[in-house]
Amino acid sequence: MLDEAATDPLAPTRLTGWQWVRLVGNVVNLTTVLGLLIAVLGRARLRSGPRGLVLAEGYRLRFPVAGAFTVGNVITTPTDFAERLRVLPRMLDHEERHSWQYLCCLGLPFYILYTVMMGWSVLRTGDRAARHAFERMAGLADGGYVDRPVIPLRVQIGNVARWLRRSLGAPRRNQD
Ligand SMILES: [Zn+2]
Repeated sequence: MLDEAATDPLAPTRLTGWQWVRLVGNVVNLTTVLGLLIAVLGRARLRSGPRGLVLAEGYRLRFPVAGAFTVGNVITTPTDFAERLRVLPRMLDHEERHSWQYLCCLGLPFYILYTVMMGWSVLRTGDRAARHAFERMAGLADGGYVDRPVIPLRVQIGNVARWLRRSLGAPRRNQD
């Protein structure tokens, strides 16, 4: 079984010391448990992947909207990984880097940092990933993201102010 890894990038492999640390760490910090729960709720098919990762395919819920997403050591896709790798040959590397980020964040604080960075990226570029430190570290292109230029802050503040005015303006039709 282990020999298959040479030809099949999705086959289970023997774990290195650090991969054991990640495997145990992401169970203890509960993120892999959460990842399994989400995959089961989404009725995904589970199988052992390489380097201690769990692959979940055929996920059926509509959230999150993503070609693939990682929670702890669990990488989930609505389609299947052979197909995803044909479109994005390095997507598994990208998702695996997120599994290290969960370990480094000691688990669920990942989501606080991830959300703050997403806000920052949107503010700087109008895109949720382009200036997102976690997505940049995981490799933008490997994850299918496009790098976008930074928009001057005063232009972006104007955009946000306009967006807020539009959003807050919507309920006014209910006024007498
Ligand atoms: Zn990513």
